[in-house]
Amino acid sequence: MRHLARRLALSLAVILLAAASTPALAQQPAPSPAPFTATLAPGIHYDPAIPTLKAVVGHDFDEALTTPEQIAAYMHALAKAAPDRTRLVVYGHTYEGRELDLLVIGSAERMARLDSIKAGLQRLAHPEGLDDASASRLIAGLPVVVAALHEVHGNEISGAGAGMAEAYHLLAAQNDPRVTNILAQELVLIDPLQNPDGRGRFVEGYKQARSFPADPDPASAGHDEPWPGGRTNHYLFDLNRDWFALTQPESRGKVRALLEYQPQVVADLHEMGGNSTYYFPPAAIPGNPWVTQQQWHWYDVLGRAMAGAFDARGFAYFTREEFDAFYPGYGVSWPTAQGAMGMTFEQASARGLVVRRSDGTLLTYGDGILHHFTAALATMVTAADNRQQILRDFLDFHRSAMQIARNGGPAAWVLHSDRDPDLAARLARLLVANGVEVRQADAPVRVAGRTLPAHTTYIVPGAQPAARMAHNILDPTTPMPEDFLKRQVERGKQRLRYEIYDITAWSLPLLWDVEAITTDRPVDVASTPVAVAAAEPAAGHSVAGSTAAATPQRARVGYLMPWNSAAAAAVADALRQGLRVRVLDGATTIDGHHFPVGTALFRTSENPEDLPARVMSLAARHGAEVFPVESGYKDSGISLGSNDVRAFIEPRVLLVWDSPTRSNSAGWARYVLEQRYGQPVTAIRADALPRTDLSNYDVVILPSGSYSGVFNDAMVAAFRRWMGFGGTLITMAESSRWAARVGLLGTSTEMRGGAPEFGGGEGRKAAAPMKQPIDLLQAITPDRELPERTSGAILNVVLDTTSWLAAGTDGTIGAMVEGSRIFTPLKLNEGANVGVYGDMAHLVAGGIVWQDARPQLASKAFLMLQPMGRSGKLIAFAEDPNYRGYAETTELLFMNAVLIGSAR
Ligand SMILES: [Zn+2]
Repeated sequence: MRHLARRLALSLAVILLAAASTPALAQQPAPSPAPFTATLAPGIHYDPAIPTLKAVVGHDFDEALTTPEQIAAYMHALAKAAPDRTRLVVYGHTYEGRELDLLVIGSAERMARLDSIKAGLQRLAHPEGLDDASASRLIAGLPVVVAALHEVHGNEISGAGAGMAEAYHLLAAQNDPRVTNILAQELVLIDPLQNPDGRGRFVEGYKQARSFPADPDPASAGHDEPWPGGRTNHYLFDLNRDWFALTQPESRGKVRALLEYQPQVVADLHEMGGNSTYYFPPAAIPGNPWVTQQQWHWYDVLGRAMAGAFDARGFAYFTREEFDAFYPGYGVSWPTAQGAMGMTFEQASARGLVVRRSDGTLLTYGDGILHHFTAALATMVTAADNRQQILRDFLDFHRSAMQIARNGGPAAWVLHSDRDPDLAARLARLLVANGVEVRQADAPVRVAGRTLPAHTTYIVPGAQPAARMAHNILDPTTPMPEDFLKRQVERGKQRLRYEIYDITAWSLPLLWDVEAITTDRPVDVASTPVAVAAAEPAAGHSVAGSTAAATPQRARVGYLMPWNSAAAAAVADALRQGLRVRVLDGATTIDGHHFPVGTALFRTSENPEDLPARVMSLAARHGAEVFPVESGYKDSGISLGSNDVRAFIEPRVLLVWDSPTRSNSAGWARYVLEQRYGQPVTAIRADALPRTDLSNYDVVILPSGSYSGVFNDAMVAAFRRWMGFGGTLITMAESSRWAARVGLLGTSTEMRGGAPEFGGGEGRKAAAPMKQPIDLLQAITPDRELPERTSGAILNVVLDTTSWLAAGTDGTIGAMVEGSRIFTPLKLNEGANVGVYGDMAHLVAGGIVWQDARPQLASKAFLMLQPMGRSGKLIAFAEDPNYRGYAETTELLFMNAVLIGSAR
């Protein structure tokens, strides 16, 4: 209690200090406050040779929200002041050009032989052939590695403050026995700020909106972030979902750095709602099933140690509620799948310098730093105290992973895609970037009664130290405990929220439509290890070798490029270069070779002389296949001069931006267009759209969101008119629902039981008089409610492969489905249902779909194509095709809508 009073006094001091810095009050010099370190670690003396934050940027840790640039400057200053005890790893740069830093801290003696220590840590993580005696010798000489990663969500601001304070304390504290212990036993990795672009957005917004003195009113402008908020990165991705998918540079660089240092304990420091307290492990159930008993044991040890540190200072906390670690794309679960004890810490957020909580108390930015600092130090001390056992268990984790194949398999996964070989290559490289060993077949592979070609087939051995990571990424479904699932079914009956924190399926082979064939016997074929390119692949590039011929040969008629993700990227590139490209609206067979609908055609006659070289270079750059054509005479199907061969245009694409779009959806779409496919796009704020001349654009994309508040009837009419003249409108998830509500889309979402949500069916049936005595369950069941919710599962979608909109697919794909949005298929007179969910027998590809929800989902519309006017169209996705930027197959459907949809 006394402490709380002191903190409150300090909070007020912060406010007064802020006031004192305004000109009106400046003539009364405030007494110099005690440095914030006196609160963080009372009684500790600091080495004056190590710079304080105030000395470098002008404010103490708790006095102002430090900008990302100031944070980077401070990390450089610390590294410069203690070169013998630090190494500053700049592991990447953000899209907005900010630096991503990891400060490695250790004793001078240890830092001097850092490379041999890293090699020893690698040996523990790759223990093939390591005998027990050598292992013991190795472990005796190695530090335990603790990583403290801060602020992956940029508006969770006390994280970076704590990160800087931890680094300062470890380098400058002179009489703290905890630090002596930590440096004797440990290597510490501090990432002060995993998401500089998000923090930059938050801090600028707060500065612009704040009051002097800081206003604690949670409703005040400073605390009320405008769209899109600071949580996400430049492309509005939640980086705490991106750890295995590695779509963003922040994730790629971080994962590369962590695989280099192989930490055994990883704390990921977050913030939560301001009325809460503090959260640390053990985590809520269901945990990821690949977490070992030893790891659960250490969660208990670490949790108790943190509880001790918090109890000693009178800080409130909770464990085992709310935050599960099932999904492997978090900062808690990805390191855990690599053998570390990954942990989430959550501090109640002041979302500014100070906030008044609902119980009337004040919570400051400094409070958050203090609590995070306390948890991080307790973690480091606990790891130091248990160095040898933690290292031994880390070794055991990787040894036991190599046994998984023997105890239940598989012996190997074989990755292959006939239709999109580049995508199989991308998946192979992504696995390698996650620390998984993958081999490229040098000879044909016989598996499951088939023979798959050399070079485009990849083998993931089951018996490998990273087997748990491989399972997490490749398995169609990661199981949840039966009793947990039973409890959720009961909760569903009571209309209570499911206790599932995130999605229940994320299998990349399903979302990429790359075959992952499991086999019980090791694949015995000549093969080469797949390496990750040192440089990050640029926009839309593939670093894979091309299947195209090296010597350009001038074909009389032109070149055919079968459609897939690589061809889509190549065509977008070609159009930007000014080449003329056409698309086959029907299938054809020429010289015995079948070319499906969507195949791109580069005609020799309408392109420049250097077409052969340019087509070959496009193919090589993007990993596409090219076939020279000497005669336009077909064996069967359409002719190359047919009216069913349309011309691609370089589409002018408008992406609706800002509120009320769902920021993730808008960001994912922009990322897929700009970065994955290199397709330029104009982002226009939703409220500016009514003033925008739509005729300047060929394609308009409405990200998920409900537009009723910003688009009136006149805007709906403008969309209709523009489509009538040939425009392509693309809607997805909630914007498709909006399109149905305003009558643009000729169908409706459904209520539970199948009644339409919009349109004719809204009149309630008069309730029939109830038989007495009543049936209680029937009596309390709502008359009208949304369908049963799906917590993120992968459903099979059956596509009409004769439609250009399904080009590049084999007719069945996996799509991420989330929520309770179900579209009744379009009637024949309204348009085409190019993709529908599988029937009852073929509905679920991966994850959890409740039994009650299945009948209503089966055979419902996923992808609708509704003609408008002479050549315009509305293309509506039931779900977000660009989900988290890692749903490759539905992203291709989205690009089909953009590129082929706008072809004339
Ligand atoms: Zn967070």
